[in-house]
Amino acid sequence: MRRKSALRPDTTLAPAGDVEGEIYVRGLPACCLRSFKEEALAEAGERRRLGFECGCGRSWRITSSLDDRVLDRFVTHAGPRAGGSYPAA
Ligand SMILES: [Zn+2]
Repeated sequence: MRRKSALRPDTTLAPAGDVEGEIYVRGLPACCLRSFKEEALAEAGERRRLGFECGCGRSWRITSSLDDRVLDRFVTHAGPRAGGSYPAA
């Protein structure tokens, strides 16, 4: 059922503490994209995470996503420009 590495491209992220630096997931450095996929596609079961850290030292928060698996795994931190509604908790 789970298709590996088939995340939707409409997820946006921002460096921790810098929501103005929001980028689309495809704009992530390759190492961070890999870390994000590993986190997002890992088996759920624990609490949703606030974000993720990459081995390169960057940490990221998810600002918005329409991907169910991302929403299952991460809390979203909508930035000031985001006008959408929050997903139901
Ligand atoms: Zn990285």
